[in-house]
Amino acid sequence: MRQVTVLGGCGAYPEPSRACSGFLVEWDGFRLVLDLGYATLPRLLRHCPDGAVDAIVITHEHPDHCIDLHGLFRMRLYGAADGTRLPLYCPPGVLSRLGGLEPEADMRTVFDVRTLPGTYRVGPFELSGVLLPHYVPNVGVRLRNDQVVLAYTGDTGPDPLLADLGRDSDLYIVEATDRKGEERQPRRNLLTSEEAGLWATRAGARSLMLTHFWPGNDRQAAATAARSAFGGEVFIADEDLVVSLDRRSSQARTS
Ligand SMILES: [Zn+2]
Repeated sequence: MRQVTVLGGCGAYPEPSRACSGFLVEWDGFRLVLDLGYATLPRLLRHCPDGAVDAIVITHEHPDHCIDLHGLFRMRLYGAADGTRLPLYCPPGVLSRLGGLEPEADMRTVFDVRTLPGTYRVGPFELSGVLLPHYVPNVGVRLRNDQVVLAYTGDTGPDPLLADLGRDSDLYIVEATDRKGEERQPRRNLLTSEEAGLWATRAGARSLMLTHFWPGNDRQAAATAARSAFGGEVFIADEDLVVSLDRRSSQARTS
């Protein structure tokens, strides 16, 4: 199985029956999680009982991207741990932020922490991370092997590095927050969906998945705006959407 399953696609806080940022990447039995925002953990556990994943990557310390990592920590600490520590790739702020929730327990007893940005071998992938503009340090990540390139921005303002991050990717997951007034900010920290399409085009991505929708936003309108700037396939990160990473079949399905 080679696929990405959407655990959640909301920015800020989850809408009813939805969850914040989170993706499960599966490649021939290797299971990697990208972000674990509000309400993603129960969805992850539907796919991976006991939280049995092989690696976790967190882009930044905002809770809509990392708070359910703390739930997974408790699960491994109190119950489901098999004695091995889970590899966790993240900027330093993630651990200090979540560690503050439970200062009497060290998260490193559960997680084997490797700091981003950086480049690592992670199962079947080379993982590389690059700092992108946001309110706090945010690391855009790129997973690559000789058969696929998958990239994910986390949260970011416009930046030329976005073209490199998603260069020739099979699937580029790009935040499309469309937060009102963001374009007028003197320092940009988030994207519009049209900008998401534009950067996917500059990257030469084959397909684009829009995510991190501001609560209440019209997702179809976001896809239309992205398509005005990007000619490839555009997916909307609705919960339970599955996108194949096998180049022979690019169809999406909902599980
Ligand atoms: Zn953020």
